[in-house]
Amino acid sequence: MKKVKIIGAGLAGSEAAWQCSRRGVPVELYEMRPVRSTPAHQTSDFAELVCSNSLKSESENTAPWLLKEEMRRAGSLLIEIAKGCAVPAGHALAVDRALFAAKVTEVITRDPLITIRREEVSHIDEAELTVIATGPLTSDALANEIARLSVSTHEAGPVPPHLYFYDSISPIVEADSIDMSKVYLAARYDKGTADYINCPMSKEEYDVFYDALTVAESVEEKDWEKLNYFESCLPIEEIARRGRDTLRFGPMKPVGLRDPRNGKQPYAVVQLRQENLRADSYNLVGFQNHLKFGEQARVLRLIPGLANARFLRFGQIHRNTYINSPRLLDSTLRMKDHPAVMFAGQICGVEGYVESIATGMLAGIHTARLVAGEIALAPPRVTALGSLMNYVTNADPRKFQPANITFDLLPPLEKKVRDRQLRRKLQCELALVGLERWLDEAKQTAQPAMSA
Ligand SMILES: Cc1cc2nc3c(=O)[nH]c(=O)nc-3n(C[C@H](O)[C@H](O)[C@H](O)COP(=O)(O)OP(=O)(O)OC[C@H]3O[C@@H](n4cnc5c(N)ncnc54)[C@H](O)[C@@H]3O)c2cc1C
Repeated sequence: MKKVKIIGAGLAGSEAAWQCSRRGVPVELYEMRPVRSTPAHQTSDFAELVCSNSLKSESENTAPWLLKEEMRRAGSLLIEIAKGCAVPAGHALAVDRALFAAKVTEVITRDPLITIRREEVSHIDEAELTVIATGPLTSDALANEIARLSVSTHEAGPVPPHLYFYDSISPIVEADSIDMSKVYLAARYDKGTADYINCPMSKEEYDVFYDALTVAESVEEKDWEKLNYFESCLPIEEIARRGRDTLRFGPMKPVGLRDPRNGKQPYAVVQLRQENLRADSYNLVGFQNHLKFGEQARVLRLIPGLANARFLRFGQIHRNTYINSPRLLDSTLRMKDHPAVMFAGQICGVEGYVESIATGMLAGIHTARLVAGEIALAPPRVTALGSLMNYVTNADPRKFQPANITFDLLPPLEKKVRDRQLRRKLQCELALVGLERWLDEAKQTAQPAMSA
């Protein structure tokens, strides 16, 4: 059987490779690390989580839960591994990042149907069945090649074939450098277990911190104004620039975080989330930033409890590349002009770890069907998977931006339901029924493949 090429062994590529392999389809998996690294990855492991360790909410009937639940039912490898590497994080699924990547690497490496090639790919043969899953930090050479492949569709309209915005990552501190006498453990609104370390600030402490932050020096300050940020992942200094209290309504919001030592809600709170199972490191939740490292140390040590913090990683900022999928891809992630070439992961215009894994899973399932001479079946719109695909391939190409899964992407119920909780519960029920039907159909259909 001819091998499928999968490029990039990140979240989407690893999942896609395994989905092919479990259906008996051999894969050549190309990963450029460690030969060439990206600005955000730190290891040569597959499926490295480059920033936060959270795979979002596990509260039933939330949109992130629904997406993960559909993936569990469809047999996602990475979601299964995540469960085994979970660290306490209230109602969210957070993982030990090192363990998670090590386990994925181990499973993929020992898979007899997956051949691993540690090299940078810079050329795509559009006649070969290929999944491009090279992520937001796709190497420049391959980005140019993708532009070449996109050109005919690009010329059909005024919309650029690939786009980018800027994204940033949060700092991590060593646990034993946190002064525990200045902080307290709590979950917001006491939901789930009290797994977060909360650093409370009085108004005076907040003012000192705010003033230091807004004058701190950034990296590449001259380019500052030109940077095009992703709105849901803004650096703290950019949020602060928008008003004195903006941080208190964003990453430093104190609501629902009463200090058990005095029963009062602080003026502002910085939350720290456990990074790994050993609980020897914590990340500053939502504290991605673009300050010079020395400036970060100075400003972040003004946070109560972090006066002597040792930093394992400072915040950073990176370019984030994605293609104009509504223009370029069909509903099964194949290029309209080159149907043997598929895209998966963040590069196809989803945002987030789970969404990236989800599209990798779909690309793997679709590819395996094509190899078996069957047609690729898009998941139904009623599901979270289908709604995400619908957004990626049908959004307005003139203002296309990567998206997380939210209820806004799911179709509304036929009948109006006023109660929000009930409405979401019904949407989730319908989605899961739709998913089961799709899984059954995918097992049964055996029609001739299209051109690939
Ligand atoms: C700085 C940053 C921080 C982020 N933080 C978060 C976060 O906190 N939470 C969240 O949910 N999402 C976050 N994201 C978004 C996204 O979820 C992650 O980037 C996720 O890893 C995307 O998965 P992926 O499989 O698409 O890409 P990746 O996991 O990045 O995998 C792509 C792989 O392709 C390889 N590669 C690239 N070019 C080539 C080539 N030419 N040849 C061979 N191999 C190549 C890379 O080395 C990499 O291993 C962040 C993104 C960035 C850039």
